Amino acid sequence: MIREINAAEFEAEVLKSTKPVAVDFYSTECPPCEALASKYHALAEVYGEDIQFIKVYRQGNRELAEKLGVKGSPTVLFYKDGQIVGDRLSGGVKRSALEKNLDQLISAIRAEALKKKIQKKNTECDVLILGGGPAGLTAGIYTAQAKLNTIVVDRALSGGNVAITHQVSNFPGFPKAQPGYLLAHQMTEQAKHAGVQFREAVDVTAANLNTREITIDGVETIRAKKILVATGSSPRALGIKGEEEFKGRGVSYCATCDAKYYEGKHVVVIGGGNSAIEEALFIAKFASAITIVHQFDKLQANRQAQEEAFANPKIRFLFQHEPREFVARNGSGVDGVIVEDLKSTDRVTIDCDGAFIFAGMQPNLDLFTGVFTLDQWGYIAADSEMRTNVPGVFAAGDVISKRFRQITTAVADGTIAAIAIGKDIGN
Ligand SMILES: Cc1cc2nc3c(=O)[nH]c(=O)nc-3n(C[C@H](O)[C@H](O)[C@H](O)COP(=O)(O)OP(=O)(O)OC[C@H]3O[C@@H](n4cnc5c(N)ncnc54)[C@H](O)[C@@H]3O)c2cc1C
Repeated sequence: MIREINAAEFEAEVLKSTKPVAVDFYSTECPPCEALASKYHALAEVYGEDIQFIKVYRQGNRELAEKLGVKGSPTVLFYKDGQIVGDRLSGGVKRSALEKNLDQLISAIRAEALKKKIQKKNTECDVLILGGGPAGLTAGIYTAQAKLNTIVVDRALSGGNVAITHQVSNFPGFPKAQPGYLLAHQMTEQAKHAGVQFREAVDVTAANLNTREITIDGVETIRAKKILVATGSSPRALGIKGEEEFKGRGVSYCATCDAKYYEGKHVVVIGGGNSAIEEALFIAKFASAITIVHQFDKLQANRQAQEEAFANPKIRFLFQHEPREFVARNGSGVDGVIVEDLKSTDRVTIDCDGAFIFAGMQPNLDLFTGVFTLDQWGYIAADSEMRTNVPGVFAAGDVISKRFRQITTAVADGTIAAIAIGKDIGN
């Protein structure tokens, strides 16, 4: 169903194909490519009569990839009548995104008929871990090593917030600061090596914690003896005007992802805690000027980060101010942030090329409304063995109620949960 081709065959097999074509540019030793492979194969089985599924080895066909603007693996392109159509999918490619683009290559009636061919699957396992950040991965390493059949399900690629952290300098075992993506990669590889199975970049389409069943992408239902919720937390939005509208067009929550776009530019950083200051220092490698806007009269970050920030000539501080609106007077991306002086209530506009928000985090619990006992901030109340109020369901990491949220504390929670789960199952 899937044909592997090289650059010389591209014109005949893709541009001159009588059928629409999906082309997956992949690489070896590429975890996101592995995460895509099973979805691509499954969909080739469903759509294969109508759509040609092609794979191109990117490293072996560099010139073609560059000509097509393919800069990373995997990248999936869609062709109809020799023309590129639809979305260009890359990174953690979801099945839902693939299906949407494949449907657009054929008629709606045919797409509906093909969907009826999709075979649903039931899987049983000992331990299902929702969330592949440090808490979930550590738990997985322990349960898999204890010979418990373990599956980690993540809505993105695994690694959690570590994967988007520029440098991690406080995780034991590494004398030099580690790039977060590398630490996340090593944790994932260790879990794979221990025997953990992964379902990455998937949509959890149904979750019943009482029966301990999770359905992913609408096609696979996994039933587990025990579930661990390790879904972590996400950046808290400010909820001000222009924030939602300009997300990705000048408003960002991730320096590792976006700082590179601000070479020689002026950036506003909102926040004064550890993340804000450490990430501002990273952004300063690219930006020519940074204005840190903070609501209090001093920073809350650790002393080392503060000293570095105060010593950096690119960084200036605006204390006791709060952002009120992101503006785009040029009509495209953000070119200003309106801030309010909390003492005088005067408002001024800071001219800039973009803004990064580090205003705290919130638990990722949208799947489980009304299920768990929560603390006053909305985090799961777990006991000293990471048990929740739902029988057979544990929780660990940033998603639980606790004082300090760090990689080491997430790892510790994951360890405790895994050992408690092992004891319950009888290992
Ligand atoms: C910018 C930044 C810098 C940081 N720097 C440091 C540092 O230097 N040192 C340090 O110790 N800590 C740092 N932290 C904190 C640290 O990253 C977290 O404490 C740690 O990652 C928590 O691990 P976790 O596994 O609980 O959750 P997370 O790392 O948040 O992982 C949760 C995982 O669950 C997945 N998920 C979420 N919802 C769902 C769902 N519904 N279904 C399936 N999967 C889901 C997510 O995709 C994610 O992969 C930093 C955090 C940030 C944001």
